[in-house]
Amino acid sequence: MSDYRIEGQTGDWEVVIGLEIHAQVISNAKLFSSAPTAFGAAANTQVSLVDAAMPGMLPVINGECVRQAVRTGLALGAEINLYSVFDRKNYFYPDLPPGYQISQFSQPIVGAGKVEIDLESGETVEIGVTRLHLEMDAGKSIHDMRPDATFVDLNRSGVALMEIVSEPDIRSPEEAGAYVRKIRSIVRYIGSCDGNMEEGSLRCDVNVSVRKPGEPLGTRCEIKNVNSVRFVMKALEYESERQVEILEDGGEIAQEPRLFDANQGVTRPMRSKEEAHDYRYFPDPDLLPLKLDADWVEELRVALPELPDAKKHRFMDEFGLGADDAGVLISEKETAEYFEQVAAGRDAKLAANWVTGELFGALNTAGLEISASPVSAEKLGGLVDRVADKTLSRRIAKEVFEIMFESGQDADAIIEERGLKQVSDSGAIDAVVDQIIADNPNKVAEYKGGKDKLIGWFVGQMMKASQGKANPQMANEAMKKKLDG
Ligand code: ADP
Ligand code: MG
Repeated sequence: MSDYRIEGQTGDWEVVIGLEIHAQVISNAKLFSSAPTAFGAAANTQVSLVDAAMPGMLPVINGECVRQAVRTGLALGAEINLYSVFDRKNYFYPDLPPGYQISQFSQPIVGAGKVEIDLESGETVEIGVTRLHLEMDAGKSIHDMRPDATFVDLNRSGVALMEIVSEPDIRSPEEAGAYVRKIRSIVRYIGSCDGNMEEGSLRCDVNVSVRKPGEPLGTRCEIKNVNSVRFVMKALEYESERQVEILEDGGEIAQEPRLFDANQGVTRPMRSKEEAHDYRYFPDPDLLPLKLDADWVEELRVALPELPDAKKHRFMDEFGLGADDAGVLISEKETAEYFEQVAAGRDAKLAANWVTGELFGALNTAGLEISASPVSAEKLGGLVDRVADKTLSRRIAKEVFEIMFESGQDADAIIEERGLKQVSDSGAIDAVVDQIIADNPNKVAEYKGGKDKLIGWFVGQMMKASQGKANPQMANEAMKKKLDG
């Protein structure tokens, strides 16, 4: 447990956080209709009569969405409920034509599970998952197209969401960020949600309260619809400080939904008409309870791909990587696959260094995802080979990498074209040694007079004379031998 605390005048405060993550299911059709779900389509072009709630239309459950919810539950180590129920959550809003959302209330498809998160400190913390349920998304009201009118786009209406609810086990913005990243990584690994927070396929309601350590839970506020990991953390920093200030001034926290204003970095109460209602949940009479076959669930469990935690431990055992490197390399499935391709049949630690060092650095600077890397795993492997067989010194290898990143060429072509081969031929190295010694009699005298540290200077001269191509270890040894001999 991280001991994140907010310092107040009356002592330290503990922050208590629970997250509700809405993850859009990857499925070609909606949860209860066959309308398509592609992102970015023209408004109201992906709306069936069911999604528009025309009278007499009946919802039909989409088996693929059920399958994805179960797989996600399994990946969260959660209990799968073989019997679950769809309820109507009733409220009026212009982007919700039926006047209710179909969701699951008292009997969700997935029960309790847990996820492990890794913190900067090296600690691993377990966060409880309360439940995962399936529900349909609402449409979208568009307020900023015309000053005098609001438009409604129903493309999103009926799209399947998995709501993943955490226990109030999270204790700091760092833990909250790590939790969201972990959930995103898991759903991406298994392909149940694309995890794209910018497009809103994964978004977060952030519940937060503060208390003196050891006291019962305080009153919480819920920050709705936060759509980036950074904003989750920023919203929490602001909101927990705000609550501490109120409580220290003798005030009370109003349990209310709030919004995070990313421009100002503050949270604000939502307009009252968007506040919580009495939803009058009841089982949807149009839908039968959902009954799953235990063998089918077992088949899905067995067919799950390797999950992030398992991959991390395998990278540590199989490749001898430290927890930090392994953690970074597994966080995205594409990164893990890229790394495994570079490491195959090579020195894995050397491969890990190149991936997490040069490659990540260059991608970061260029603002590119690894899937768009101009240097493929195969090509980076080729460069690692030339480092391992000492064709290239580290310094020249970095230069070659930069050229590869710019041009997309492979390492051998660049080495050949530019004559960058490291000089490891002892005859050639001895010749440079002789040259440097002949050119610098004063330094030689100083060295012989006891200034041992000058060896670094001599090797530096050799590297310069060879344009960085002399094998540094051989240069060092040969120079020493000559000077001392
Ligand atoms: P609701 O259904 O009204 O949103 P829940 O009890 O299901 O309420 O809780 C929603 C989320 O709020 C959960 O993630 C839970 O962990 C979190 N939560 C509940 N109580 C607190 C609290 N006092 N402080 C912080 N988070 C809380
Ligand atoms: Mg809620």
